[in-house]
Amino acid sequence: MSSRYCSPVFSFHGGLLPYNHEHEYLDPRWHRKKAKILQRDGRQCRIEGCGETVALEVHHIRYLPIHVWDYPDKLLLTVCGYHHNRLTRQQRAERGRKAVRARRAIMRNTARAYTRKKSLRRRR
Ligand SMILES: [Zn+2]
Repeated sequence: MSSRYCSPVFSFHGGLLPYNHEHEYLDPRWHRKKAKILQRDGRQCRIEGCGETVALEVHHIRYLPIHVWDYPDKLLLTVCGYHHNRLTRQQRAERGRKAVRARRAIMRNTARAYTRKKSLRRRR
């Protein structure tokens, strides 16, 4: 597989865009990593009280600008499809809230800079 598609992509606010990793899930290095994580977690969904053993997936607790197979094991977790969906949705919502907070901070600072300039003009 060509590695030129593997460079991380950053969004406007510097956050990593995780969907760029998608093609990496076809790589044998990821398959080896996934097998290792499934083995570690006893081939069971690790969400408390679930214990599902079929159609297991490996969840990325955080996204990093590295290859999916280079993630430290502690950032990977065996989960069932249902819980993977829920975790991913939570992560997306959190990223959305962060983006909203970042936008609000920019607007606030811009407004502050503008009023500061105006008050300087008034003093002169
Ligand atoms: Zn589960």
